[in-house]
Amino acid sequence: MDKKLIYIAGSSRTGSTLLDLLLNNHKWIISIGEMDRLPWFMSQASLTCSCGNDFNHCVFWRKVQSLGCEKLGVPPYTPLLIERSPSFREVSIGTISRLLYKALMIQPSKTIYHLANLSLFRPFQKAAQNCLFWNDIIREVTDCPVVVDSSKIAFRMKALYFADPKNIRIIHMIRDGRAVAASEIRRTQRPMKIAARRWYQAQKKIIFCLKGIPNGQIFRLHYEQFCSDPNSTLQELCDFVNIPYQENMLVLNKHGIHNVGGNPMRFRRGETDIKLDERWKQELGPEDLDTFNGIAGRLNRSFRYS
Ligand SMILES: [Zn+2]
Repeated sequence: MDKKLIYIAGSSRTGSTLLDLLLNNHKWIISIGEMDRLPWFMSQASLTCSCGNDFNHCVFWRKVQSLGCEKLGVPPYTPLLIERSPSFREVSIGTISRLLYKALMIQPSKTIYHLANLSLFRPFQKAAQNCLFWNDIIREVTDCPVVVDSSKIAFRMKALYFADPKNIRIIHMIRDGRAVAASEIRRTQRPMKIAARRWYQAQKKIIFCLKGIPNGQIFRLHYEQFCSDPNSTLQELCDFVNIPYQENMLVLNKHGIHNVGGNPMRFRRGETDIKLDERWKQELGPEDLDTFNGIAGRLNRSFRYS
C-alpha cells in the first residue's frame, strides 16, 4: 500500500494518546507520538520514551538514528534527530518572521505558499523536509507504511500538508471544551479564564489551518463518541485511511511502545479499559461554566455540545 502520514490535530487532553495507542495496534501503522517534541525530549536526561528507557538508550529510536546515519553516510549514533530536527517549534527565527510564517499557514492556497518560497522561511521548509525524511526512515525500520504523528499543533499540520499534500490524512480530535478546560484546571490549577482561552485558541487555529485541505483528507473525531463506541470509530478510521480493520486494534496495549510525549496514562501499564472521562460534570460549578460560556461557549456549541 502507499505510504501515508496520519496527523492528529486538536487541543491537549482530547484523547489523542488513547487513539495513538489503539492505532499503533494495526500491523500497518506505527504511532510515534508528538514528533514535534522529540529533539527536546532527547536532550532532557530525565525524560523517558514510552517504553521506559531514556530516548538515547531506547532500542527503537537508536535504530531510527542508525538507519538515518546510514542513509546520509555519516558515522553511526551521531545525534541526527537533533541535528536534522523534525521540530517546528525549535526553528530559530525572529518573531516577525515566525508571525509571517504562521500567516502563510493560515491561508489556504498552495500556490501562495509556494510563491512565498523565500529564504526567510527556509528553516521551516527544512524542518518539513526533515519530517518527511524521518517518517520514511521509521517506515523502513518498522515495515509500516502508515506513520501517526500526534503533535496536535495546527501550524505543523499545515506545513506537513504543504510539504506532501497527497499522503497526509488529518484526524481532527474534538472534545467538549468544558471537559478539556476542567482537565487543565485539575492539572495546572490555572483559572477557568485561561483554560477556556487556551482551548478556544487551539481549536480556532486548527479551523483556520484546515482551510484549503480537501474534506476527503479530514476525519472529525469526537472524543465522547470514540470512547463510547471505539469499535465503530476505529472501523471508520480504517476506511478513511483505506486499510482493512483489525480486531486487535481495540486492545489498549501499553507495552513495547515508543511514543514521544502524550498523556501519562501511557505509563500506567495496568490501566487497559477504554473509559469515557466526564469528571468535568462534577468538577465545574456555575461560575466556571459561566466563564467558559462567555469565552468559548459559541465555538463549543458549533461542535454540537449544548
Ligand atoms: Zn522507546
